[in-house]
Amino acid sequence: MVVAIDGPVGAGKSTVARLLARELGWTYLDSGAMYRAVALSLLERGGSASERAKEIEIELGERVTADGHDVTEAIRTQEASEAASRLATNQAVRAALVAKQRELLAAGDWVAEGRDIGTVVAPDAAVKVFLTASPEERARRRAEELGTDWRVVLQDQTLRDERDRAREHSPLRAAEDAIELDSTGRTSEDVVHQIAKLVRQAG
Ligand code: C5P
Repeated sequence: MVVAIDGPVGAGKSTVARLLARELGWTYLDSGAMYRAVALSLLERGGSASERAKEIEIELGERVTADGHDVTEAIRTQEASEAASRLATNQAVRAALVAKQRELLAAGDWVAEGRDIGTVVAPDAAVKVFLTASPEERARRRAEELGTDWRVVLQDQTLRDERDRAREHSPLRAAEDAIELDSTGRTSEDVVHQIAKLVRQAG
């Protein structure tokens, strides 16, 4: 079974998906980490984006490895975020990574998080959530995590959101059958509790 959690930058998807996976005893899929890993590899070594997306061996878990190298921290830098956001507009890269994601989701129970899980990667997901929060709250939460000024985070967030929404291939949008949850002013635990209830109803 698959629970799809999509939404804009900083809506709390990672925290919620991680906690939910732990509560259900399911596996967590961070699809953004894949775009980040390919982007980082291209920054470091150059080459063809579509070829790299096809060839790269990504292991997701407590640590993230790409072709055997631990990239857990390196994929979270501002530079990697910006490069991943740009790379995500490339249709061949998307096709290669969507294929890898579908392969993983084919067996077992998953909480998968990203931008296009409910619309493209797993359109048959049992539960689809489109998680949002006000832009200011999203920026403040991420600034707290990163230890930076929230206004700077807000600028970067607005740019990445715009790119995700405006891109031609698999733009960020809620699936027609997704439940839209606004996490503004709510705790992650509260949101997780609500989604877990939806999962129980679906199962
Ligand atoms: O979720 P995260 O911020 O780690 O994702 C990094 C970038 O990868 C995003 O800015 C987004 O453009 C892209 N992405 C995507 N589709 C996904 C997951 C991430 O386009 N399913």
